[in-house]
Amino acid sequence: MVDVVIVGGGIAGLGAAYKIRRAADAGHDVSFTLVEKDDRLGGKIHTDIAQDPDGGTYIADGGSDAFLTDKTAVHRVARLLGVFDEETGTLDETKKTFIVKDGRLVEMPDGIMMFAPTKIVPMATTTLYSWPAKLRMALDLVIPRKLRWAPGETAQDHDESVESLVVRRMGRECLDRLAEPLIGGVNGSDPKDMSLAATYPMLLDMEQKHGSLVRGFLAQRRMIEDMKRKYPPKPGARPRTFFSSFKLGLQFIIDRMADAAGRDRIRTGVSATALRRDGGRWAVTLSTGEVLDADAVIIAAEAWAAEALVREAEPAIADLVGTIPCSSSATVILAFAEADCPFDKRWHGILTPAVEKRSLTGVSLMSSKWPDRAPEGRVLLRGFLGGPRDQGVLLKSDEELIELARSQMVDLIGVKADARPRYAKIFRWPGGMPQYTVGHLDRVDEIERLQAGVAGLALAGNAYRGVGVPNALESGERAVTKVLDDFGIALAEDVVEEKRTR
Ligand SMILES: Cc1cc2nc3c(=O)[nH]c(=O)nc-3n(C[C@H](O)[C@H](O)[C@H](O)COP(=O)(O)OP(=O)(O)OC[C@H]3O[C@@H](n4cnc5c(N)ncnc54)[C@H](O)[C@@H]3O)c2cc1C
Repeated sequence: MVDVVIVGGGIAGLGAAYKIRRAADAGHDVSFTLVEKDDRLGGKIHTDIAQDPDGGTYIADGGSDAFLTDKTAVHRVARLLGVFDEETGTLDETKKTFIVKDGRLVEMPDGIMMFAPTKIVPMATTTLYSWPAKLRMALDLVIPRKLRWAPGETAQDHDESVESLVVRRMGRECLDRLAEPLIGGVNGSDPKDMSLAATYPMLLDMEQKHGSLVRGFLAQRRMIEDMKRKYPPKPGARPRTFFSSFKLGLQFIIDRMADAAGRDRIRTGVSATALRRDGGRWAVTLSTGEVLDADAVIIAAEAWAAEALVREAEPAIADLVGTIPCSSSATVILAFAEADCPFDKRWHGILTPAVEKRSLTGVSLMSSKWPDRAPEGRVLLRGFLGGPRDQGVLLKSDEELIELARSQMVDLIGVKADARPRYAKIFRWPGGMPQYTVGHLDRVDEIERLQAGVAGLALAGNAYRGVGVPNALESGERAVTKVLDDFGIALAEDVVEEKRTR
């Protein structure tokens, strides 16, 4: 029997637990114990389901609210669990994004792909950029590539920051007005430090291949349009949207994974406080004082927690994990009566660039973005606060955070000044978002190289090879393959099952 202790009950840890359960069901002699320091499972996935005082239900995701539809891991696991039909897409008929400029909302021009324009008229007419900025962005078409890569070289060999690439190709205003709030906001990172190779390597690839980001995005747009023509949606099929979730919020998949993995093997409200090598085995000390004896340990916790845990047993790995900084943020979810929200509600999001100097980095209109997230006649909004531009945000009290988000919504969106929320929920995320800084992939390669030499140890989670939910889930599954491989267990049946559902 190979006993695995999993530290962390986010989607990475549960992905590992569920995979071990499938391996056991397939006849392998393996088992797990998962410990989660919080009283609940899910980590950065946390859906609050609450009632309006006058009836009706709010489904409010405080951390992740979506995953990229194109990434297969969550769909695959949902199919294995028999809950694929519980997935939902966004409401694309209301899909508009606004950017805050000088305190006002400017609609994102049509044809923008990431931050690059691919349509001339909307670009010429938008007030988002000054004319000098528009001309500067057009220079992307003629500015030569920085250098030509030697054959076989990749983005990783030529890593640079997001800020560096955007500014050299399209100018500072493009960075400040759109790339920073969009890329930096989504990743909770400062584009000045963000590694392109680890986050958007295709931008560096595009520059190599097309000599220009605009030409690269134009080619991508044509390819997407061709694909849509060639493969129109099947009648009755669920409309394909860029983002997906579950009808009951993302927590739904967490709970189903925990049920399937086996709740009897999962302990919440218990943290791992120390990890020691004990001969060929591992000793995991818990906050209860117990010591779990294990063949293998999967640490699926935040980078700072993983660093502390592996420090004694594997200081070189700890040093590398310690180079991954994490930013803090808070999300504030507020629901108002529709009468208190006399504004056009056909949009999903608002982005606030750092140059606007507001601590509110963005707003999602959850009741327009997703079906059935709020009762009839109610508007559900989610404000993002903090991130790299305001790391002190968590020092504020709950009342201060609610008032900060509410007053910004009044000021920017047009919520009535005297409107009081019918439902309010605060989520705090201390050190919640790992930052992939320049050179990140080289450091992760080195972590994995060192880890390969340590039998029965694997790190998982969103700190290493992708910050999104599907990446985190896959990292947990990969960690299982690694530690069982250390014991000569190859998960043939399980892997076949995964391939079939892709
Ligand atoms: C505000 C916010 C919004 C986001 N939005 C999106 C989004 O829309 N789409 C998307 O794809 N991604 C999003 N992300 C990222 C996404 O949420 C994460 O990638 C993913 O949920 C991380 O899962 P994980 O299992 O790696 O880590 P976590 O969810 O962080 O889980 C780690 C767990 O380990 C536990 N733990 C830590 N130390 C110990 C210990 N010593 N003992 C026991 N337990 C321990 C923690 O309590 C935690 O529950 C968002 C993140 C944040 C913070």
